[in-house]
Amino acid sequence: MDFRLSEEHEALRDSVRDFAREAVAPVIAEHYERHTFPYEIVRQMGKMGLFGLPFPEEHGGMGGDYFALCLALEELARVDSSVAITLEAAVSLGAMPIHRFGTDEQRARWLPKLLSGEALAGFGLTEPGTGSDAGGTQTRAVLDGDEWVINGSKAFITNSGTDITALVTVTAVTGTNPDGSKELSTIIVPSGTPGFTVAPGYSKVGWNASDTHELTFDDCRVPVGNLLGERGRGFAQFLRILDEGRIAIAALAVGLAQGCVDESLKYAKERQAFGRPIGNYQAIQFKIADMELKAHTARLAYYDAAARMLAGEPFKRQAAIAKLHASTVAVDNAREATQIHGGYGFMNEYPVARFWRDSKILEIGEGTSEVQRMIIARDLGL
Ligand SMILES: Cc1cc2nc3c(=O)[nH]c(=O)nc-3n(C[C@H](O)[C@H](O)[C@H](O)COP(=O)(O)OP(=O)(O)OC[C@H]3O[C@@H](n4cnc5c(N)ncnc54)[C@H](O)[C@@H]3O)c2cc1C
Repeated sequence: MDFRLSEEHEALRDSVRDFAREAVAPVIAEHYERHTFPYEIVRQMGKMGLFGLPFPEEHGGMGGDYFALCLALEELARVDSSVAITLEAAVSLGAMPIHRFGTDEQRARWLPKLLSGEALAGFGLTEPGTGSDAGGTQTRAVLDGDEWVINGSKAFITNSGTDITALVTVTAVTGTNPDGSKELSTIIVPSGTPGFTVAPGYSKVGWNASDTHELTFDDCRVPVGNLLGERGRGFAQFLRILDEGRIAIAALAVGLAQGCVDESLKYAKERQAFGRPIGNYQAIQFKIADMELKAHTARLAYYDAAARMLAGEPFKRQAAIAKLHASTVAVDNAREATQIHGGYGFMNEYPVARFWRDSKILEIGEGTSEVQRMIIARDLGL
């Protein structure tokens, strides 16, 4: 058992850490305040190869592994979660389904630009009427000659409406299974396809520099060849994508939790109350010690899930545990970091205010905490 990082992983972590501090930290608060998408940061992340991290070199990737992506996400989220979720969704939800389930032609067409960060892709599973219960999917796709005709809508889709969004992969009901359940498939819809409308961005509580939209499909026609993977395998495909994605979200949550420790430590040494730095008071020391404890244990949980996944072992339960624990810890640490900052913690100019606003979604997105508990209980045989 060895939790030390390899030289390659350590070098990657350090370079992303430097990038987050030097290139993201100085500009992200303004994007957040104005709700603007950080194109320049995305361009730089593309140049660093971050969008291609876990993909083979023959498709334009960096030849790294999924754990490398997690390390990058942790370091980015330590400074800002909007940037981190943009990368997470682009890789894990956008490019990965095409890499895993696409035909040679689909990979050749889309992966080079997605892995270089020149273009982004979204993954549309959630609908206005259903999220946790994918069986409630209402969006339909009907074959008409050599085209799929898609009707329906998707809610809260990340990276779906930027200037560089190339496509969205959507889940749709394409028929009925022999047992009477819905046959679900995934279909690639390129941006700009007639009948595909992207609504204006949501007004969100957090992740304000990330891109999220509702999408509608109104007799939207795409070629039959845009089916991603086998017809009727949509359910199995997105379960696999979400299992992996949970490890990535856990890493992102650990980054936020660690960022709260960083900011609190700094502030506790500077801020004076009753004639001493507040970090001299045991009440504050214990808060920070508990925050470090939580970030550390959540990190071990995602390292464990990632190690199992990379070893080809079952990792569903461990991914759910990592996501559940890390998101809880992120919310806890954001609350305590804000408390340590007193009134300044409620001011948007302080990073901890952003961390607080960004933490809650981690208990909701890519499977709510209740869904994680359902997965763990089911895996235990209940
Ligand atoms: C900013 C943002 C970005 C997102 N990005 C994407 C994206 O890129 N692609 C995408 O497809 N989706 C995306 N989502 C959607 C997200 O994954 C869903 O919001 C989430 O899965 C929950 O679904 P829901 O909102 O429909 O809640 P519901 O499923 O309606 O759940 C409501 C509540 O009921 C609970 N609940 C539901 N079923 C049960 C049960 N059986 N037992 C106990 N409790 C239960 C839930 O845990 C939750 O607390 C995003 C959401 C946000 C806010």
